[in-house]
Amino acid sequence: MHHKTVFAAELTWPDYQRRVESGETPILIPFGSMEQHGHHMPMHVDVLLPTEFARRAAQELGALVAPPFTYGYKSQQKSGGGNFFPGTTSLDGASLVGALKDVIREFARHGARNLCIVNGHFENTWFIAEAIDLALRELGWGGIHDVKVVVLSYWDFVDQASIGRLYPDGFLGWDIEHGGVLETSLMLRLHPELVLLERAVDHPPASFPPYDVYPPHPEWTPASGTLSSPRDATAEKGDILLDVCTRGIVDALRTEFRMTDGPAAR
Ligand code: ZN
Ligand code: MN
Repeated sequence: MHHKTVFAAELTWPDYQRRVESGETPILIPFGSMEQHGHHMPMHVDVLLPTEFARRAAQELGALVAPPFTYGYKSQQKSGGGNFFPGTTSLDGASLVGALKDVIREFARHGARNLCIVNGHFENTWFIAEAIDLALRELGWGGIHDVKVVVLSYWDFVDQASIGRLYPDGFLGWDIEHGGVLETSLMLRLHPELVLLERAVDHPPASFPPYDVYPPHPEWTPASGTLSSPRDATAEKGDILLDVCTRGIVDALRTEFRMTDGPAAR
């Protein structure tokens, strides 16, 4: 059976080599976490969503999608509820940096020169930056200076017009969107069988003092684990998000990877 996949690991190695050795095929690496997402969603939301954005972008660009990172950096109270919830399973920063650095170096060894980290978990941000910095430095020592890595988080592509349609009653910021309208709407569109909307807990938006404390005060986090209510989530809002973020990601990668010819014919 000839199955046209964008997932790199589904290829045989000779087929993979043909695609990657020239350096022209971008490789997109989804980066997630295993983290509680309230009473109504599973714990791999931050893996499923960036993987789907990567898949859609790769189809348009003729790129490949690497296996996702399924563990991420420790959940922080003001962006993910906190690392104290049962189920939330996180890496030390050094482990994340080491693993991603190794993977970037491996794809570069295969010939890849254009990489993109598609992030789905806010707390990974600076560790991804560190891993890229160390990988590029190490590759430079080996005489490889032409590797480019784009880092993006899909929610950063939501524009003001879309925010008005998604949050008609006012937008409170991405930091408290953990398990709220953004992620729940996308999951309702993509994986409705994994959303238990009847168990969703409606609560006022979380509000925190302007500092962090370790160990955290668990009572600062709403008991459900979400930081804002998923009540107003709909599959239609999921479509708005899929459209605007996929378009933004594709445009960004076309620009950075100088792919001006439209969808690659492969
Ligand atoms: Zn999440
Ligand atoms: Mn998260």
